[in-house]
Amino acid sequence: MSYSIEVVERSGNRLKLLFKGVPLALLNAVRRASIEYVPSMAVDFVVFNNNTSVLHDEIIAHRLGLIPLNSEEALRKYKSPEECAGKSSESSVECYAVLSLHASTKEGEIKTVYSGDLKPVTDPDVRPVYEGIPIVVLGPNQEISLEAYARLGRGVEHIKWSPATVSTVTYSARLTIKEELCTLCGKCVEVCPRNALALENGKIRTYDERCILCRQCVNSCPVEAVVLGFKEDEFYLTIESSGSLKPETIVREAFKIVISKLDKFLSILDSIKAQSGG
Ligand code: SF4
Ligand code: SF4
Repeated sequence: MSYSIEVVERSGNRLKLLFKGVPLALLNAVRRASIEYVPSMAVDFVVFNNNTSVLHDEIIAHRLGLIPLNSEEALRKYKSPEECAGKSSESSVECYAVLSLHASTKEGEIKTVYSGDLKPVTDPDVRPVYEGIPIVVLGPNQEISLEAYARLGRGVEHIKWSPATVSTVTYSARLTIKEELCTLCGKCVEVCPRNALALENGKIRTYDERCILCRQCVNSCPVEAVVLGFKEDEFYLTIESSGSLKPETIVREAFKIVISKLDKFLSILDSIKAQSGG
């Protein structure tokens, strides 16, 4: 069975791939693994030295947990979430990276504390991806001082560890215009949000690769001349990253995880077969 993978879009944190000849079930497993099982770094717990801001410690800790941290190097350097389970931060430098945050204001001063103020202490590779995420606004004469402990985790434990903000599998459209019915009124062209239809050289031209299957063209055609279907063995996998990992890293790691789960499943089947004497 032949298959192919084509990069349709790669921009910023977004990657869109076209798979041909790859089973939908496998791609769906990769989609789910991207969200739930690919590990990334996030703040696990916070030690507060001082907090006189208006936000409670718990709220600030929660906000810190949701700040994406660079995790490309961390995948190689730190132990897996399962290996670190139950380890204290003191006993395991292979599990935790420490970041610190110190900010204060003087009389009459108001200051917003941003993710860029969260500085790496033990590992310069684990730092906030974005500098401009607001954490708290300090009023006059307020202070916040803390150490944040980040570790690898998986989205299945808490969504803050999910490196993928979008992970979708979609069908590949097949657009057909019944020319014998079409009156060239242009309504389908008008309503299409993706310019997948165009009136060119006296006929409606279709661009399947732009279509998002929203069906607006079908609903707007007064003579039912638009036929919208999908290709049986072509699917798009779209990943948008939080920035903690490159989207291609997410896809690669997700495939590795799915393959290792399948291997495990096969070995369980083998052991059942052996036990039953088959
Ligand atoms: S289904 Fe939606 S995106 Fe696709 S051609 Fe019709 S209107 Fe355009
Ligand atoms: S809406 Fe229907 S009839 Fe009008 S141009 Fe499109 S396909 Fe043709």
